[in-house]
Amino acid sequence: MNTQEKTVMAIFEEFPALKKKIPYVSLGEFPTPIKRLDRLGKEIGIGRLYLKHDGVSGPIYGGNKVRKLEFLLGDALHKRAKEVLTFGCAGSNHALATAIYARELGLRCISILLAQPNAQYVRDNLLLSHAYGAEIHHCRNRMAAYVPTFVKLFIRRLSQGKFPYVIPPGGSSPVGVVGYVSAGFELKHQIAEGLMPEPDKIFLPLGTMGTAMGLMLGLRAAGLKSRVVCVRVVDRKLANRGKFIDLFRKTVVFIRSVDPSFPQVEIAEDEIDIRHDFFGGQYARFTEQGMAAVDLVARYEGIRLEGTYTGKAMAALIDQARTDGFRDKVILFWNTYNARDFSSAIKGIDYHQLPHRFHRYFEQELQPLDKRHSK
Ligand SMILES: *Cc1c(COP(=O)(O)O)cnc(C)c1O
Repeated sequence: MNTQEKTVMAIFEEFPALKKKIPYVSLGEFPTPIKRLDRLGKEIGIGRLYLKHDGVSGPIYGGNKVRKLEFLLGDALHKRAKEVLTFGCAGSNHALATAIYARELGLRCISILLAQPNAQYVRDNLLLSHAYGAEIHHCRNRMAAYVPTFVKLFIRRLSQGKFPYVIPPGGSSPVGVVGYVSAGFELKHQIAEGLMPEPDKIFLPLGTMGTAMGLMLGLRAAGLKSRVVCVRVVDRKLANRGKFIDLFRKTVVFIRSVDPSFPQVEIAEDEIDIRHDFFGGQYARFTEQGMAAVDLVARYEGIRLEGTYTGKAMAALIDQARTDGFRDKVILFWNTYNARDFSSAIKGIDYHQLPHRFHRYFEQELQPLDKRHSK
């Protein structure tokens, strides 16, 4: 078990009482680097463009789920759970990250996964989840099917004397979100060190909202004024201002219940900046604009984005740079996508080893924009 702490979480530096009281397990490598993207900035007309590289947040698998899992899996261990149960879509980066880091800690991982548009990354993520011993269940129809599948599975585990620790989709509970509150303090420390000026705007994708919401809470608690631009990549039912505020308030209540010296930060509706126009109508359906952004970033900076989340967020950034003019602005793109190459870990795996219901992702065509792209 990885109990040795490599770095002190930024939030613990500021609130030492939290460190003693909040369950936490070190999984990642923090702070994550900040990179200046001069070539891309010049191309799209941004004076000072930076990237916060959460793609390398973990040694095996990076991306935005690592920060959340440090608190969620810490809590699971604290509650003496032997297994965790979580949710996502078939290619879920969250389900994969949970499978990997749960396994590292000796916990069994069970995931309930919903159908989604096909893409190469779905295949890769499923194979790696399998390689890490995750028990994966496919739920064919839409959201409603989650509940009966979950209830059936959960009751079966209980009858076997197991009590799985349940992690919500995307890890976006007040416990998980603390990881991104800490990221707000981490950025403040990096600004103080002179790694970049305080950004005017920070762009990132909006899924289950924990990343954007936690970051915004952390920035406000740290006294930073940067505006967070949340680029919605899921249905409006799942990501909207009402739910954002609700999760924000619950997280403040949770943190203050552990350490009352944490500030009582408030949020106003008009502070929540959600861009709806890059979604493309369906979760994980790649868009022309999103894939053009992926290509541009690869060409100018050699950084790999993808079509479900970060390509759409970058497309919004590029669009706003053109319409609003960011020439005299400091803009930060928060990269939430894994940058670790795991192709060798899945090389020899035959998809027939996966439960039958997942075979379709390997037998059916990729969506056209992915097919063209992965050539
Ligand atoms: C899960 C995920 C997101 C969305 O984060 P939320 O906290 O669910 O809003 C963004 N980018 C990538 C690459 C992800 O895997």
